[in-house]
Amino acid sequence: MRRTLPWFAAAFLVAAPFACRSSEEPASPRTTPDTTEASYRRPALIDAHTHLSPFAIPVIRRIMDENGIELMVNVSGGNPSDRGFELSLKMSQILQGRIFHCFNPDWSRVDEPDFAVVEAMRLEQAVSRGFVCLKISKALGLYVRTQNGVLLAVDDPMLDPLWEAAGRLDVPVYQHVADPKAFFEPNDERNERYKELRVHPYWSFHGGDWPSWSEMLDAFERVVARHPETTFIGVHFGNAAEEPDRVARMLDAYPNYFIDIAARVPEFGRHDADRMRRFFIRYQDRILFGTDIGISPRHLMLGSSGEDEPTPDDARRFYAAHFRYFETRDRRIDHPTPIQGDWKIDAIGLPGEVLDKLYRGNALRLLRLTPPSATPPASP
Ligand SMILES: [Zn+2]
Repeated sequence: MRRTLPWFAAAFLVAAPFACRSSEEPASPRTTPDTTEASYRRPALIDAHTHLSPFAIPVIRRIMDENGIELMVNVSGGNPSDRGFELSLKMSQILQGRIFHCFNPDWSRVDEPDFAVVEAMRLEQAVSRGFVCLKISKALGLYVRTQNGVLLAVDDPMLDPLWEAAGRLDVPVYQHVADPKAFFEPNDERNERYKELRVHPYWSFHGGDWPSWSEMLDAFERVVARHPETTFIGVHFGNAAEEPDRVARMLDAYPNYFIDIAARVPEFGRHDADRMRRFFIRYQDRILFGTDIGISPRHLMLGSSGEDEPTPDDARRFYAAHFRYFETRDRRIDHPTPIQGDWKIDAIGLPGEVLDKLYRGNALRLLRLTPPSATPPASP
């Protein structure tokens, strides 16, 4: 059943780019933390993977303040050719420098012969206005087609000028490739993500002319290998939460490769906790904390979405479930996004210095963010 959210009353009524997720299974209350360092104090967080509507500023501010988030990176910042771009900049201004943005290419121009060159110029323009990254959505590989109807390949050399520009401008490329493996399996009750696919049938990539999951991941790897001067962030745990060994192999092979954890705690949390703990310790300088939270005036998306409307209280449970996974050694806990699967996960209790890098240090360094707290107030 949909609920009316009083805190949205003052917000603008704008068609939301995000759907909502189910909140029918609230996370269980936090038990006594069995932290590696019981005295651990979480730093001011950076959520390095968010989708923010410029019309939801009061809600964004509330969620940031309630969850100890100093900065957010909005990976849906837009393109200087559209109206959303200026609105994104305005949002940063109103939220006093707490929001940073990624540029998004305009795929509707993909058939123009100068597509990548023009988008590279627009990226440069965005960076000159303070944008800090380029975000490629899963549209590349799954939806973007050229005029002859053929899917544009993730590693199409036509796109090279864009990757080169990101390297030259020293802004990382967040890249979403493919989707959970289950979305490539038949969409029926036997699919372990059926609950989610039933709400979003268009997330199913079974049949049709899509490349296989592995083919898409291999194509992405060729791009990372071909552009050593460009930093890539494989979002959603390197797009391969089901295969940590594949992710580890890429991190070992390519110093220009990083990952975020957005919307994949439920999936990589299924692997043995000691194995995942070793992974996060080994790659402690290469992983960004991000949640994929989507905030728009009338909808919240907490990693995924279902039929019910989540509230800021659900957002608190969502962040708390992340903290519990990373900071405690609790067993069989609820993961952050119930609709992503009916299973429990075991927490990995990372050491404090590793948590500090995950929650803040790596994003500050990689995206070269200057928090407002670091800027001295202008002299009168
Ligand atoms: Zn996202």
